Amino acid sequence: MRRVYLDNAATTALDSEVVAIMNDVMKNTFGNPSSSHFFGRKSKALIETSRMKIAKLIHANPTEIYFTSGGTEADNMAIRGAVRDAGVTHVITSKIEHPAVINTVASLVHKKKITVSYVKVNSNGQIDLHDLESLLENNKKTLVSLMHANNEIGNLIDIYSISVLCKKYNALFHSDTVQTVGHYEFNLNKLEIDFITCSGHKFHGPKGVGFLYVNKNINLSPLIHGGSQERNMRGGTEYVYGIVGLAKALEVASRDLEAHQSHIKSIKLYMINQIKEKLPQIKFNGLSSVLDQSLYTILSVSLPSTKYDQLLLFNLDLLGVACSGGSACSSGNSNTSHVIKQIQKEQLPVVRFSFSKFNTIDDIDYTIDKLVSLFN
Ligand code: PLP
Repeated sequence: MRRVYLDNAATTALDSEVVAIMNDVMKNTFGNPSSSHFFGRKSKALIETSRMKIAKLIHANPTEIYFTSGGTEADNMAIRGAVRDAGVTHVITSKIEHPAVINTVASLVHKKKITVSYVKVNSNGQIDLHDLESLLENNKKTLVSLMHANNEIGNLIDIYSISVLCKKYNALFHSDTVQTVGHYEFNLNKLEIDFITCSGHKFHGPKGVGFLYVNKNINLSPLIHGGSQERNMRGGTEYVYGIVGLAKALEVASRDLEAHQSHIKSIKLYMINQIKEKLPQIKFNGLSSVLDQSLYTILSVSLPSTKYDQLLLFNLDLLGVACSGGSACSSGNSNTSHVIKQIQKEQLPVVRFSFSKFNTIDDIDYTIDKLVSLFN
């Protein structure tokens, strides 16, 4: 039976160049990077070369990159670090952030370490910049945490304007860029930002590895106490082949960025047009169908209520189409997500289709056929 994978915002398949380099490291480089002998130095060199490669690709300094286990850890490290070490007592965020941010902020509020303000979000999932500015007009040391692209509906924020606002009010700025690193160009020389986060498996790299970028003007104390790895910030023997795979994945993504962007955009546009033509009862969520204001890898739709409501994803899976109902972490779950609740009054079944460089127009034709068979 044919299987179409349209859940690339949850995770992506490994790139063959990434597999090749990781295989090579796994076979040939096993030394502990903290050991001072030849074997250790060989591993250590791979880590530092990877750090330099990544830093160069995003126009940062290698000392600003800390390897983590992925996006969740990096988000935690940024927010907790800003509160613990940079004097932050107030966080401005939104109710449509990833749980890695929402729950981290909630736990700090619960422990009375910070107060939180939620910036207004309209029914398209757009952040209200006027409201953000009025929230910034306070005397508290503030961290703004707003995701670059929403992982459920794909909305992009105007990261440059927000960074300028944060600077104006002397607030720190963290953006969860987990869905955009590897899919857009980053030039941190031109963007005034304090923290960005990355997860390798969102752009054909390995799972369980990512990084946190911390602007050199900020000094954080260790998040994980232990050995002196990651310049004392994160104790524990490094995931050497994961780090090498992460750097390779970002290198490949950056090298082929234009080609992949135009391929994936054309697939998304084709799906939008097919839906408009063959399934006019389907609505697009947020700015999902607005090509220049949403992530080109995500198309989120609301479907009319049918007998399948609760079992929609299950039925699509039975027909060979893998997609998701809400956040990446809850693929296969049709409960209304916290993001959709913020933007939709009527709770209709939601499906997120997300694309990668490996998808084809044929995949979309197949998916549209299956949707038509469920709905017509
Ligand atoms: N932030 C966003 C926007 C995500 O989409 C995800 C993953 O779904 C994460 C954070 C968590 O990343 P990781 O799975 O690497 O912990």
